Amino acid sequence: MASAQLVTLSTGIHYLPGAVNVGVVGTGSGGCVLIDSGADKDHAKRILKACRAAHLEPVAIVNTHSHADHYGGNAYLQEALGIPAYSPIFEEAILRYPILEPITLWNGARPPVALQNKWLLAPASGTKILNEAGLREIAGVALELLDVSGHAHIQFAVRVRDVLFATDAVFGAVILQKYPLQFMVDVQHVREAIETVRSNKARVVVPGHGEPTGDVDNLCDANLAALERASSAVLIACGEAATLPEVLERVCAMLEVTITDLTRYVLNQTAVLAHLTDLEERGLVQLKLTRNRLLWTAV
Ligand SMILES: [Zn+2]
Repeated sequence: MASAQLVTLSTGIHYLPGAVNVGVVGTGSGGCVLIDSGADKDHAKRILKACRAAHLEPVAIVNTHSHADHYGGNAYLQEALGIPAYSPIFEEAILRYPILEPITLWNGARPPVALQNKWLLAPASGTKILNEAGLREIAGVALELLDVSGHAHIQFAVRVRDVLFATDAVFGAVILQKYPLQFMVDVQHVREAIETVRSNKARVVVPGHGEPTGDVDNLCDANLAALERASSAVLIACGEAATLPEVLERVCAMLEVTITDLTRYVLNQTAVLAHLTDLEERGLVQLKLTRNRLLWTAV
């Protein structure tokens, strides 16, 4: 999985392939802006090495959202290079207080040690706030930030000339197959984010995870299909009144998902809750409190 070399996507625009893709945009004067910073310190070191091998020195980081695999390299790079990072409003609070992520996934309570791992908890990083989508110049590089929220509460994709770094608005085909229940917090916003990626008409789209592609329609269709498949499974799971753990268990059986650790369990649980909220808002399921049990039922 570890890659040592930048791959060029367009003139001055590169990425470092990996478990999470990192964008590298040249400033034209020997510097580069990183789109996300990798999962951890080791990943950050590989990014720095790859940039320097291409005679590019990182001068700023743009974090697309607050998931640890996208900002885990910030602390190392900021300390080593003294460079600024930028992240979306709201999300930046989690970069400053990373424990908020496992706390949120544990219903607000102090999370168990098993949830305080590098997948959910990266070192804290102070960042400048990106208040809204739109055109933005960072370190002399013209970027267009697109609102692709839904996978995270606020998430920005980054368009640079003919390349769109779509981050986790869309996943590559292999990732969709591996994780049939994609993580999301707002299902309707994810639907809209996929259409934002489609209508942006970039020549190349780089998903946060998976292979870059020029076949954007196909990528967007596959992501929408996966979303609606998960949504249908959640609706079917509510055919007989069920608690959240029961809905999750039924959905996993239908999508052939086997959960082997607590991190995956809480991530899948949140994804199912996001679908339940969406279905409830569309009038397709009902939530009822009966004898101290919260039950979801298809209408
Ligand atoms: Zn993410």
